[in-house]
Amino acid sequence: MKTRLSFTLMASILTACALTGACKSSNGSGYEQDTVRAKDGTKITLTFYNHASIAVEADGHRIYIDPADATKKIAWDNEPKADLVLVTHTHYDHLSKDAIMSLNGTGEYTQLKPGESLDAFQNIRIDAVPAYNITPGHLNFHPKERGDAGYILTIGGSRIYVAGDTEDNPDVLALRDIDIAFLPVNQPYTMTVEQCARVIDSIRPAVFYPYHYGGGSPQDKTDLEALKAAVEGKTQFRLRSLE
Ligand code: ZN
Ligand code: ZN
Repeated sequence: MKTRLSFTLMASILTACALTGACKSSNGSGYEQDTVRAKDGTKITLTFYNHASIAVEADGHRIYIDPADATKKIAWDNEPKADLVLVTHTHYDHLSKDAIMSLNGTGEYTQLKPGESLDAFQNIRIDAVPAYNITPGHLNFHPKERGDAGYILTIGGSRIYVAGDTEDNPDVLALRDIDIAFLPVNQPYTMTVEQCARVIDSIRPAVFYPYHYGGGSPQDKTDLEALKAAVEGKTQFRLRSLE
């Protein structure tokens, strides 16, 4: 297992900097960010706002994904302007028109359907993949037929998967060649710890960020220690402020 892991990591986008955790910093407003290198050397900065809200910046292009105020108020006016805003689906914790207006001054955003792609910028391609529930009683949260999306951002030959609100459905389990995965782990809307571990087992991202975690009631709280233990030796587990 050790051999396989180190091979995976060597083949991944990670630099020595990222492996030692030295790439971790914060932006001018105090939000955590990580800097990694894509396969072609492109510098990628990931900024973590809250819950499902992150930014990915490369080659001077800043892409926000699901900017919203789910678990804390963000002063979006103070954040760098958006070159593109991607929205996975229209739930309030993923879509805030006020946040988008603050970020780009127009309120415009892009919401692709699964199967659609966008050559957003030179060296940055976006592919939408399906995001939906499969557990009886949870199907109405994100019905497959509604066409909610997750996104794979391909930057400099490396692939960053931002899953949106989904469970471990067959479309998710079939994904391959993912370098960094953001997977949602909260109940009852997305995945349990066990479901998330199954996704890691299947797609084997080099790096895994849990996001969209937490839970409204104590019994729904995401067991992050159990999650970390469940994926040990299969991926690099990186916990950031994405409750
Ligand atoms: Zn949702
Ligand atoms: Zn959500």
